[in-house]
Amino acid sequence: MKFRNFSIIAHVDHGKSTLADRILESLGAMGERDKREQTLDTLELERERGITIKSTPVRLNYTRPDSSGHGGEEYVFNLIDTPGHVDFGYEVSRSLAACEGVLLLVDASQGVEAQTIVNAYLAIDSNLTIIPVVNKIDLPAADPEGAAQELEEIVGIPAEDAIFASGKTGAGVAEILEAIVERIPAPSGDPEAPLKALIFDSIYDAYQGVLLFVRVLEGRVGLKDKINLFSNGKNFEVDRLGTFSPGLIVGKTLEAGEVGWIAAGIRDIQDAQVGDTITRTDFPTLEPFPGFKPAQPVVFSGLFPTDTEDYRKLREALERLKLNDAAFSFEPETSEALGFGFRCGFLGLLHAEIVQERLEREFDLDLIATAPAVIYRITMNDGEVFQTQNPAQFPTRDRMEKVEEPYIRMSVMLPEEHVGAVMQLLQERRGSMVTMNYIGKRVELIYQVPFAEILYDFHDRLKSISRGYASMDYEIIDYREGDLRKVDIYVNNEIVDALAVVVHEDKAYSLGRKIVDKMSEVIPRQMWAVPVQAAIGGKIIARATVKAYRKDVLAKCYGGDISRKKKLLNKQKKGKARMKQIGTVEVPQEAFLAVLSTE
Ligand code: GDP
Ligand code: MG
Repeated sequence: MKFRNFSIIAHVDHGKSTLADRILESLGAMGERDKREQTLDTLELERERGITIKSTPVRLNYTRPDSSGHGGEEYVFNLIDTPGHVDFGYEVSRSLAACEGVLLLVDASQGVEAQTIVNAYLAIDSNLTIIPVVNKIDLPAADPEGAAQELEEIVGIPAEDAIFASGKTGAGVAEILEAIVERIPAPSGDPEAPLKALIFDSIYDAYQGVLLFVRVLEGRVGLKDKINLFSNGKNFEVDRLGTFSPGLIVGKTLEAGEVGWIAAGIRDIQDAQVGDTITRTDFPTLEPFPGFKPAQPVVFSGLFPTDTEDYRKLREALERLKLNDAAFSFEPETSEALGFGFRCGFLGLLHAEIVQERLEREFDLDLIATAPAVIYRITMNDGEVFQTQNPAQFPTRDRMEKVEEPYIRMSVMLPEEHVGAVMQLLQERRGSMVTMNYIGKRVELIYQVPFAEILYDFHDRLKSISRGYASMDYEIIDYREGDLRKVDIYVNNEIVDALAVVVHEDKAYSLGRKIVDKMSEVIPRQMWAVPVQAAIGGKIIARATVKAYRKDVLAKCYGGDISRKKKLLNKQKKGKARMKQIGTVEVPQEAFLAVLSTE
């Protein structure tokens, strides 16, 4: 059989899913939407948000048309999906490593965006053949030649190689299919060599345990084979394996060049890390596929049930989610203010949001989430070195020799006219410029920025000051020393550990101000006035007051109208969901995320 293994990469909304549907349809396979109903369950959230978290590859049969001069030649295409979000960059790179080529999509009306470039470089780094596709040419604002030109300028892909297409009308699809055969090389790899298979994804199935999605690079694997995982040395026996059609098709062997799935009685997804290499114990390869990195959470947040009774339910829910997500971590955390909960680790803000939303929807939990934080490396005066991702445990300045925080390399693409405003924003976020490239009327800015600085309302600010035109992508590069301080928050004169944030010294005052102001807005008013304060090392730096209120609400009813009074009280009660009693004050979820609010 002749194989072609490829993936589609694009900036978000440039039409990847729509074009994939069109390709599937033209090859007689079900479209993405129907497929979801019938095969492996995909997350509801994923559909709603239009992002791909996990989806199975699709295997397609292609017969070349007579017009190609090779009429009747048959091919098997494996289309491997990639997650379309910056949080999942490593997963994208492993999916690409399972391919020989990519379709690089660019929206003809938008041109090249930040993720177009980042994805293109991932493909180049994996030595893949890139087929440039200028998509959405049906749009009135489309400028296909301009977009192709940008690809040439920025990524170095010849403009004349571009295929003009539309996922909406189907234009260009036939040409794309031929290009996949003509331009993307057949997989190489010797089926007689020792087994070397790359895990590019994994999912948990209640009946079969973990299913490994693999690309066999060399050798072959069959039923009952004993397989070995390089990263941890563990051995398993293959129970079932097969290919994707869409859906899981059961087979007997997988050979070099093929993409498929393996069930081997693996119960723990931690043993099925994306990027790991599998070999056979009876015929082992010596070298794993390079570039393995264990999944590393980089953003942390505390999750606490609003109702302490729900602690066990929360733990069970986290365990369930963890079954299917090796990149997500959690450990018990105790907060004086919030009680028992969990410190959870995520790949990024979107990943954190997805997990929290799933906990609330699928497991019917009411949660308080604390502000996201990064990992800090701390050296104490006595030489002790440790890491913490919990601001509550951040020591005071006088006890620390130094603190280091993670930095990212960020790339921003934007129209020329917004460059000034965006540079100012990056400056405010302690960024330093690496380069600036002009591409026609647009600019690519490369900055190095402390990671923590983009966790707090960066994306929204970037979008608003660029009228929605700026796009960004980033990766963590290293740790650097910074003058960081813990800002403590007091509510009603009691310190609330779960509200502490770590911030650069220069910003401590303004951030403290912002937090207390926002909190005083969102904490429901009481019969008495409640002070909210921010402090560094015990010294108050900002203060606001939640004014007394409740009697005013009732006063407005002129004492007479009972039903109206009841309604009002009910309304106040309803607002209690997602609140936590701290001392005598009820603090709502928004207060915990005050630091994230946009000025
Ligand atoms: P993805 O985020 O890259 O998967 O993008 P989608 O396939 O979800 O498409 C994003 C939006 O663009 C949707 O509203 C689509 O209907 C629209 N879209 C996708 N392809 C085309 C196209 O070829 N022409 C037009 N006019 N709209 C398209
Ligand atoms: Mg999509």
